[in-house]
Amino acid sequence: MDNPPDTGVSEGMETDVIIVGGGLNGPALALALAQGGLKSVIVDSLPAERRADPAFDGRAYALSLASRRLFAAIGIWPEVAPSAQPILEIKVSDGRAGEGAAPFFVHFHHGEIEEGPMGHVLEDRFLRRALLAAIDSAPGITHLAGMRAVGQETGGDGATVTLDDGGKIRGRLVVACDGRQSATAARAGIRRTGWRYGQTALVAAIRHERPHGGIAHQFFMPPGPLAILPLPGNRSSIVWTETEAEAARVHALPPEAYLDHLRPRFGDFLGDIALEGGRFTYPLGLSLAERFVAPRLALVGDAAHGIHPIAGQGLNLGLRDVAALAECLVDARRRGEDIGTTGPLREYERWRRFDTALMAAGTDVVNRLFSNDNPLLRLGRDLGLGVVNALPGLKRRFIREAAGLTGELPRLMKGLPI
Ligand SMILES: Cc1cc2nc3c(=O)[nH]c(=O)nc-3n(C[C@H](O)[C@H](O)[C@H](O)COP(=O)(O)OP(=O)(O)OC[C@H]3O[C@@H](n4cnc5c(N)ncnc54)[C@H](O)[C@@H]3O)c2cc1C
Repeated sequence: MDNPPDTGVSEGMETDVIIVGGGLNGPALALALAQGGLKSVIVDSLPAERRADPAFDGRAYALSLASRRLFAAIGIWPEVAPSAQPILEIKVSDGRAGEGAAPFFVHFHHGEIEEGPMGHVLEDRFLRRALLAAIDSAPGITHLAGMRAVGQETGGDGATVTLDDGGKIRGRLVVACDGRQSATAARAGIRRTGWRYGQTALVAAIRHERPHGGIAHQFFMPPGPLAILPLPGNRSSIVWTETEAEAARVHALPPEAYLDHLRPRFGDFLGDIALEGGRFTYPLGLSLAERFVAPRLALVGDAAHGIHPIAGQGLNLGLRDVAALAECLVDARRRGEDIGTTGPLREYERWRRFDTALMAAGTDVVNRLFSNDNPLLRLGRDLGLGVVNALPGLKRRFIREAAGLTGELPRLMKGLPI
């Protein structure tokens, strides 16, 4: 690893909010806070060049309409929009490898809501780079890359985070954006509930002969779902779930054998397929923090809730935390309050905890219900999908949920200034 940069932190640094973790939610939070005039320091243990490397993370995110509004408000949407693919339709079906499209499917069309496409698919390499560039040029944000937070103290009048070089940062509040293994949350005594699913997601970009028409597909297979997310051009990103052992075996195959394995699952509706770029794997599990706040501390993103990617909602949930927490803190500052006190933190927790617990439970149940070949469950879920497809009111409700338009939206997700 690179040597930590000489930042002068060892002499002590003062800010409003100390953000531990510069993945995706940490930088988004710093930019949202800056809109409301709050200063922040972001610390990430990985060097910035490593995170900005296009091969760092192979995921492409299905971003909801509400998340797009947040990115517009914090000024990064114009940077990433040319690389984002609008999702015009979503098709969901229940199937087995090699059997083709199942007879029961749900078809969601963006025309069923007034707001336009329910979301966009955006590759990590574009999103991460845009966020890193934005925090490096925004006034009021200091980015300490290649430095690990190793301790924190929270007291009556402020919080201090200690770095691995012994440097200290002082602020009003610490926000943990350090992912599902959050050491910041653990140090604060916040326990987690969770389990592994025994599944691994195989992720890759695929080039295909025919245009996808902006349609995202979700095929439920016995070992787990296969999502095909449209990317600009004749390309799609796959999130292909297999059991841990099978995924390890498939991942180790040479490219042609990998594709031979994928073809009967993917089908031929887009013509012939080829791999584009690297192949990645992500072990899947659930990890929910029992509390989202502690004295002078808040959890955001995967540090608060790491969920199954079956609904493509993990980052969307994290971005809603970002917009909600920024609003609570900026409002507290405007009222002349200390932003690290219990009032704004309780407000944030009340706003976000129920919503995330519901989504975590929902993805857990759907994954268990669909990731098997039990004939009774197959019949039940196929009938269920048929019912959803036949009821326009219910379908519209699902589309609004996928677009992130349900529940109490923070101002930044309504297209309003903070
Ligand atoms: C296969 C897959 C597909 C997905 N698809 C979607 C999708 O389509 N749509 C969607 O909304 N979501 C999706 N998600 C979820 C999404 O990827 C996550 O929710 C998101 O990446 C979490 O970002 P984060 O910033 O909270 O955490 P992370 O990305 O985990 O970032 C944590 C950061 O903290 C840093 N860090 C850790 N410890 C320390 C420390 N002690 N000091 C300093 N820094 C530290 C790390 O270096 C890292 O950069 C998917 C997830 C998976 C696995």
